[in-house]
Amino acid sequence: MTIEGIATEPSETLLGDYDVIIVGAGPAGLSAGIYAARAGLECVILEKGVPGGQVLTSPTIENYPGFAEVAGMKLMETMAEHARRYIEIKEGEEVLRVRGGDKFELFTTSGRYTCRAIILATGSSHRKLEVPGEEGMTGKGVSYCATCDGFFYKKKEVVVVGGGNTALTDALYLHSINCKVTIVHRRDQFRADRHLQESIKKQGIESLMDNVVEEIVEGEQVTAVKLRNLKTGVVSTKPVDGVFVAVGELPSSQLASELGLDMDPGGFVTVDKSFRTSVPFVYAAGDVAGGIRQIVAAVHGGAAAALSCFDDLMNPYYKR
Ligand code: NAP
Repeated sequence: MTIEGIATEPSETLLGDYDVIIVGAGPAGLSAGIYAARAGLECVILEKGVPGGQVLTSPTIENYPGFAEVAGMKLMETMAEHARRYIEIKEGEEVLRVRGGDKFELFTTSGRYTCRAIILATGSSHRKLEVPGEEGMTGKGVSYCATCDGFFYKKKEVVVVGGGNTALTDALYLHSINCKVTIVHRRDQFRADRHLQESIKKQGIESLMDNVVEEIVEGEQVTAVKLRNLKTGVVSTKPVDGVFVAVGELPSSQLASELGLDMDPGGFVTVDKSFRTSVPFVYAAGDVAGGIRQIVAAVHGGAAAALSCFDDLMNPYYKR
């Protein structure tokens, strides 16, 4: 089936047979690719969009060793360029279905791939606020990516919703490009790192603590948000031009479900310390496997998963 010429159904044409296929080209997938290829495994990375994952949307990274301060996009371009020295990254190749058996079969819109092992590095997606107006105003004032859309809100009033590292990093970025930023957070304390909290104070960025967005006022563009103070119950309307939502991530674990992998109640794939999942020859790393969700941790997970995969293909652990 096609929609305006774009294939939406998996195809059966065999496009390649590999030792291991890595799904996802974020930090975990790219690192897995470098390690798997250097170990001598026949491998490929299938990426539904472009390499980089969620890090692409991070304005600045200050805690990836070797890069004191780097834009997320720059860091990921560098990482992808490095990975391409060793492994092919097939971009725009979304894995729609996966099947176990003697060999794994992965179906994309272009065709079918087979392999002996899979490393899932499928990442996560933005959690939504799930309030009235959010869906309808997405792209009309509601954004999940400060670096992508911040430019359009220079000198305008915006709220950043959330209290984690993403929210505070986004707030600092928006402030730096001259947006009038207020952070709206549901508790009286931020979850973000102390360093970011101090930067927010130093920059004089305002915060409305103990507040939630109850509604985003619909129109041609966002004009206001309705807020509720959770301590006092007072509802107020704040005129704004933009709403940047940064309330966390949801694991992209659909393929993990199809493979029958054990997951925690939040939908994150359960892995052991070697990044093996509950199913032999399937590994998971990066955001989809939960944990501290840092780039450095994703990179570690990808490398460890690839090395475990190499070990298992040479000498399956469950036969030892
Ligand atoms: P996060 O750490 O899970 O924080 C989500 C924030 O959104 C929390 O403050 C949470 O409030 C709030 N929240 C959740 N659901 C909400 C709702 N329905 N309404 C209002 N507020 C809601 O997510 P994140 O900031 O995206 O970070 C994800 C991971 O990436 C973290 O591990 C983080 O450390 C990492 N990260 C790291 C960096 C960095 O180190 N430079 C940058 C970005 C992200 P509560 O606090 O009340 O739960």
